[in-house]
Amino acid sequence: MRSILFESLLKAPLTEPGPGRDDAELAQLAAGLDRAARARLGRSLSIRQVDAGSCNGCELEIHALNNAFYDLERFGLRFVASPRHADVLLVTGPVTKNMREALERTYAATPDPKWVVAVGNCAADGGIFAGSYAVEGGVSRVVPVDLHIRGCPPSPEALLKGLLALISDA
Ligand code: SF4
Repeated sequence: MRSILFESLLKAPLTEPGPGRDDAELAQLAAGLDRAARARLGRSLSIRQVDAGSCNGCELEIHALNNAFYDLERFGLRFVASPRHADVLLVTGPVTKNMREALERTYAATPDPKWVVAVGNCAADGGIFAGSYAVEGGVSRVVPVDLHIRGCPPSPEALLKGLLALISDA
């Protein structure tokens, strides 16, 4: 045990270096999104994430937007706990039969104007879960979808680009 402790003091940590990022591009994207949201809504964008049955891979990328690496909140964009406070629903996963009603109720509780973004291949058409007895299929089978952001999972940059395109075109 003692030798392990000494070794751990001398050895470098076994973590991988973080992915490279273009901070300027990221800052430009997020600032552009905030500007577009303020022009459209008069305030910054509030996002509610809904997991309708995903494997959690898409959630990890969405959560990354809020971590210390991407730090989306520095641009005023924020995730909210209630659909009643949201402008955008970010929906992941194929919609499972068990989550269908929850998604419908979440959509109904979100005030207009609202946008629904289907995140990931599963949210687009069921992805690898398509045809399963337990799923309804893509998100558009249950609620109207304004934008699909494909990928398995899509990267945080792809999510930002998709949101920016959505708000700018609205
Ligand atoms: S798109 Fe990929 S990462 Fe996202 S829920 Fe489906 S399988 Fe998981």
